[in-house]
Amino acid sequence: MEQTITLGDKSFRLYITEQQILAAVSQMADRINQDYAGKTPLIVPILNGSFMFASDLVKHLTCRCEISFIKASSYRGTTSTGELTSLIGINEDVKGRDIILVEDIIDTGHTLAKIVPATEALGPASVKVATLLFKPKALKTDLRIDYVGMEIPNEFIVGYGLDYDGLGRNLREIYQVIA
Ligand code: 5GP
Ligand code: MG
Repeated sequence: MEQTITLGDKSFRLYITEQQILAAVSQMADRINQDYAGKTPLIVPILNGSFMFASDLVKHLTCRCEISFIKASSYRGTTSTGELTSLIGINEDVKGRDIILVEDIIDTGHTLAKIVPATEALGPASVKVATLLFKPKALKTDLRIDYVGMEIPNEFIVGYGLDYDGLGRNLREIYQVIA
């Protein structure tokens, strides 16, 4: 694996290895398996960034589950615009279900601060939030996060589903921007 990469006009250094990511994913899955034993949660990954995390997470789930993706977008370049520009794919299937919203990363929290109430409005039995990565110093909303894989500093990262202007989502590792 490369120690440094370049995407567009920015350079990035290796920050979290594939092995570290998969260990965090499997630990989170263990907790979800305990909490949802005997239930059939509806796993709702938020596209695009969470596709790789969601894929690895559900492979470790031992409870029955359904999976339905939604799409939201609030990012331009390396800064969150804070504005949720779209929410596609969420529907009445949510009624009465135990929902687990799956995010790649929580930064300001604005995206989920909008998606959680929008999901609750559809009448689910419960709504929980699972994120692989969390930047506590960037959080600007009072959001309850139920499952966190890793806490990271407030630096821009790419890889494992996360992009820099569309690039880098296919990387198995996570890279941090070099200032
Ligand atoms: P929030 O609404 O919490 O500010 O941002 C949530 C979304 O912004 C994440 O789902 C992700 O798509 C994007 N995001 C936040 N931080 C980063 C980052 O460091 N790198 C990348 N590539 N995307 C990020
Ligand atoms: Mg995302």
